Amino acid sequence: MIITIASGKGGTGKTMVATSLAFSLAAINSEQPPLFLDCDVEAPNAHLFLHPRLGEQQEVGLLIPSVDETKCTHCGKCAEVCQYHAIAVLGQKTLVFPQLCHGCGSCTALCPEKAITEVPDRMGVVERGPAAAGISFARGVLDVGEPMAVPVIRQLKKWAISQPEQVVIRDAPPGTSCPVVETLRGSDYLLLVTEPTPFGLHDLRLASQVAGELGIPAGVIINRENGPYLALDEFCANQHLPVLLRIPFERAIAEGVAQGKTLVDIHPESGGRFRQMFKQIASLL
Ligand code: SF4
Ligand code: SF4
Repeated sequence: MIITIASGKGGTGKTMVATSLAFSLAAINSEQPPLFLDCDVEAPNAHLFLHPRLGEQQEVGLLIPSVDETKCTHCGKCAEVCQYHAIAVLGQKTLVFPQLCHGCGSCTALCPEKAITEVPDRMGVVERGPAAAGISFARGVLDVGEPMAVPVIRQLKKWAISQPEQVVIRDAPPGTSCPVVETLRGSDYLLLVTEPTPFGLHDLRLASQVAGELGIPAGVIINRENGPYLALDEFCANQHLPVLLRIPFERAIAEGVAQGKTLVDIHPESGGRFRQMFKQIASLL
């Protein structure tokens, strides 16, 4: 089963929830603890909770065009075919803009002079290794200044192979843009972490729309609950989003998380609540 933990906005406690779930499941299945994927490749931080030993690494990149000006006739066919405006012919020069290139290969295939070859362009790495409690851990890390997270997430999902029956927990990037959609693809269930504020509700609405469009069943975890916020409960009820867990607004939790502790470290009894939630999810699928 693949469970993705996401939130419409950053700072909702998504990684704390994802890592707490991983520890809770590892505690009852030491034979096959979960596989944890940190897909928040622009700012991965699950390692702070899970303490992996990252022994394996693989570079991620695209094949981008390189133009041999001695063969190029500046006919402009490559620029015409490129949907992303990543290659342009300006007078007697053919320029490639690597940061816009999606590595689709169309320009290389269509160049009548065979003036284009493809060269690797690194954008990040994927890394993996065992983590605390026997959890299998893998993450992607986008290089600073690289604009495209999706290829790194896609490679991470391919590279970190799970065992049959192994639960996979994906920690998604914040927001609702392409990296989140890529993380969600192939998931069996989406856990949306939100907080009881108008901003939290606004972003939950957007995130639940994405889940609906992808046809992925979803449930909600309300973090930092500090008294009733009826608008949020009404929204969840209207959208048939079960509220699976409520985490109180507590100073001890905030301090513990800041020190790299999961909820299970801070309140050991919460492990049972995470396992109960997992059972509930399994029964819904
Ligand atoms: S299609 Fe080939 S020959 Fe034409 S401009 Fe592009 S690189 Fe040059
Ligand atoms: S590989 Fe695709 S995206 Fe990149 S420059 Fe060529 S046509 Fe454009």
